[in-house]
Amino acid sequence: MAPKFLKSKASATESNSTASKVPDIVSSVIATIRSGGNAAVREYSEKFDRWSPESFKLSEEEISKIISTLPEQTVKDIKEVQHNVRRFAEAQRKSLTDFELEIEPGVHLGQKNIPIAAVGTYIPGGRYPLLASAHMTILTAKVAGVKKVIACTPPIAGEIPAGTVAAMHLAGADEIYILGGVQAIAAMAIGTETIPKVDFIAGPGNAFVAEAKRQFFGEVGIDLFAGPTEILIVADEFADPFMLATDLLSQAEHGPDTPAVLITTSEDVGNKTIELVDRLLETLSTAEIASVSWKNFGEVIVVGDLKEAYELADAYAFEHVQILTKNPREALENMNNYGAIFLGDKTCVSYGDKASVIGTNHVLPTKKAARYTGGLWVGKYLRTVTYQEVTSAEASGHLGRLCGRSARAENFEGHARSGDLRANYNLGDEFDW
Ligand code: NAD
Repeated sequence: MAPKFLKSKASATESNSTASKVPDIVSSVIATIRSGGNAAVREYSEKFDRWSPESFKLSEEEISKIISTLPEQTVKDIKEVQHNVRRFAEAQRKSLTDFELEIEPGVHLGQKNIPIAAVGTYIPGGRYPLLASAHMTILTAKVAGVKKVIACTPPIAGEIPAGTVAAMHLAGADEIYILGGVQAIAAMAIGTETIPKVDFIAGPGNAFVAEAKRQFFGEVGIDLFAGPTEILIVADEFADPFMLATDLLSQAEHGPDTPAVLITTSEDVGNKTIELVDRLLETLSTAEIASVSWKNFGEVIVVGDLKEAYELADAYAFEHVQILTKNPREALENMNNYGAIFLGDKTCVSYGDKASVIGTNHVLPTKKAARYTGGLWVGKYLRTVTYQEVTSAEASGHLGRLCGRSARAENFEGHARSGDLRANYNLGDEFDW
């Protein structure tokens, strides 16, 4: 059946009015920082975050002092979560093996995984201190073997986020800056008088941060398009509408631009969920944000059966997908486009997103990027490079002849001559150029 919308997004003009301005705002900030360096970084930090300390970089002494203000249990929890994230990342690192193959006698081909030299990580925090993003970005880079990891996070309402700083430090950040938004991404991508230029930038963020990374792609590498978070739930008639409403709002509170979508085979479940979302918003302390995202980006769609539900969910290609059906595991066979999938009612997106106690990475693709990439992992911080060596004269001469013919088929005379020369040195072939 054709999908039936019990609740649709707000009209495109209403919901996208800010979104359409983001690329221009970001490119103008980047251009000013490119020409103005530190002074421009400071100007934007003042403008967007009312933050202009003597130094954006925290000294070792400041870091220790900040961590000492935290309850002992918070530090213990950070260490426990990081232990899990580290173990999973180490297993990923082990899965990436270097290898060498002798494809013919004396012809050696190999592959190596080399860590990126300098990485900039962004730990979002305009609204909430996202400690987990520090574990996910910094620790994973360190496990990959990145020598230099610098980390930026914004102040929250003019204060340094102590928990985030602790998480950044314990994850192994080599330099920590309290600096947010486009100005942080631009400073790390371009380099300023005091902030080092990096080769690669990783980490999630709001629409401005994600757009800044996109605009710098090429000049530096980026992990993926990890913008405003998204949740999509597939539910059948067995799902509990109270749980559906609770879980949709668990993501809607992230920011006013967070899409939360329910695709269900039951119109009754859909209608009850809509009612319950409205009721739960009355008592949710973050309702000011969550209600805006629900109004503008919330959707409830009824489809004929689960096959249609999986197909539609794949077309959305959302960051987080939750399956609340009688047989949740069947989604693994039937769906392909998602950043992370959460199966059954005994887990939820919040387990992966906030608690992160299990250890999989929570930096995940948004805006349909799940069609072509998974989330952040150790491999994103490594360059898989290849090498070759020919140690046999006979093989070199044979390959020289092959190279000469192949290159001339493409009209590349210069390439062909390099091949001719090897055929001459190793097999005595004559050449006439
Ligand atoms: P943030 O750190 O991403 O952004 C805060 C910065 O935005 C501020 O420092 C400010 O400089 C800049 N900013 C704010 N308004 C601006 C404006 N009008 N013009 C220019 N710059 C402006 O923190 P946040 O805003 O709380 O957002 C965090 C985001 O990270 C959320 O959208 C959340 O969904 C997302 N997130 C995504 C993932 C993922 O894996 N995809 C994971 C975690 C969080």
